[in-house]
Amino acid sequence: MNTGALQAFVYLRGLVPFQRPLIVGTELVAISALLTCRKAGIRPVALVEAAARPITHWPCALFPRLLGIPVHYGTQLLEIRGRQRVASVLLQHADGRREEIACDGVLLTGDFVPEAALVRESHLALDAATGGPRVDQFGRCSDPGFFAAGNLLRPIETAGWCFREGTRIGNAVADDLAGRLPPAAQQLAIACSEGIRYVMPQRISLPLSPQGLPDLQLRVDRQTRGLLSVSAQGRTIWQQRLRSLPQRRILVALPELALLEGADSLRIALSDARDGPHEALNP
Ligand SMILES: Cc1cc2nc3c(=O)[nH]c(=O)nc-3n(C[C@H](O)[C@H](O)[C@H](O)COP(=O)(O)OP(=O)(O)OC[C@H]3O[C@@H](n4cnc5c(N)ncnc54)[C@H](O)[C@@H]3O)c2cc1C
Repeated sequence: MNTGALQAFVYLRGLVPFQRPLIVGTELVAISALLTCRKAGIRPVALVEAAARPITHWPCALFPRLLGIPVHYGTQLLEIRGRQRVASVLLQHADGRREEIACDGVLLTGDFVPEAALVRESHLALDAATGGPRVDQFGRCSDPGFFAAGNLLRPIETAGWCFREGTRIGNAVADDLAGRLPPAAQQLAIACSEGIRYVMPQRISLPLSPQGLPDLQLRVDRQTRGLLSVSAQGRTIWQQRLRSLPQRRILVALPELALLEGADSLRIALSDARDGPHEALNP
């Protein structure tokens, strides 16, 4: 089961679906899963992560160890075994060793995707990288009569972040209804180089104004150490040293971009200290 389902069982129905589950994943929600298990008296047998290191920030990564729960990195879940209910799992560890662990459940905690079924069935443009609708800094979709906010815009953010972002986009909707929002006429499309998993918003409506989201939000797709740059018409207009991990929020403040007159697109590039600049993709 996933963590949302576990939390509905425990907090809404007062039910405890298992006693000794395996937890899969080390994103932030894994911590939420551990807290719920603790509250319900559930004692996970282990926590496994396919990546070589924790996805979440390191103080959080210490939490399962503090609870005495074994953590295995570089470990794949190969099989879930059992008939009426889960009896064991087959794991493959980083060194290739296979291990069967007895457990009575499997709790999934990561690999989120936006719930964008309505967008997929609509005429609105979908962004393959975020899995959500393509928006400008006001949350305005490809059809400017539609706005989107919250976790629909990318795989996952915290509740507080979504709340603050939703407030800004709600204000943009109010401004639009009052005729105070810059029209979606002049747009800067944003292209990303290899190594950048996604950018949101995917385009900027000009002129820039204090309304709307104040930053471009990015994620990288691997552990990265290098230079992040934004260019327009072949000229670098912003750059910053970057050291990041996948799933960490990276922000580029829109007011810091020295936008050139006449530019119709921006390119965000990542030059990795290990392997030099990447070619930009998908202009
Ligand atoms: C298991 C789990 C644990 C989490 N724990 C934490 C935590 O401890 N701290 C934290 O800060 N964040 C946590 N988060 C993240 C937090 O829940 C989200 O950031 C936040 O809920 C996002 O708010 P939202 O309004 O964008 O989306 P949601 O809260 O998901 O709200 C979207 C709503 O739209 C409804 N909906 C979707 N499609 C349709 C449709 N077609 N028709 C009608 N209604 C629809 C959904 O039912 C839902 O009610 C957790 C997330 C998960 C999944």
